[in-house]
Amino acid sequence: MFCPKCGSIMMTSKCSCGYKNKEGAKIQITESTGKHKKGEVAVVDAEHDEKILPETEAECPKCGHKKAYFWEIQTRAADEPPTKFLKCVKCKHIWRDYS
Ligand SMILES: [Zn+2]
Ligand SMILES: [Zn+2]
Repeated sequence: MFCPKCGSIMMTSKCSCGYKNKEGAKIQITESTGKHKKGEVAVVDAEHDEKILPETEAECPKCGHKKAYFWEIQTRAADEPPTKFLKCVKCKHIWRDYS
C-alpha cells in the first residue's frame, strides 16, 4: 500500500515520512497469524520409508530394542549440524538423537 502523504510504498503501518496508517494494526495481525509454526520439527513418517532407510545400532527408549532406522534433517542454518532422527525397527517409535 502507498502512503497518501508522500506516495511511497509503506512496508509497515508507519511511513518513513511520519504518516501513520490507522488500518495498519489490522494488516499486521493477519500477517502474524498466517504462518505460525511450532518450534519442534515435524517428523513426517511418510517421507521416510523404512525400506530405504539405513539401520544403526541404537537403543529404543520405548521398548529397548537395539536396532533403529535413522535419517538426518537439516533444521536451521547450513552451518549447524543436522538433527538425527531414529525409528525403532521393532515398535516404530521415533525419537531424536541429541548426541
Ligand atoms: Zn509517507
Ligand atoms: Zn522400540
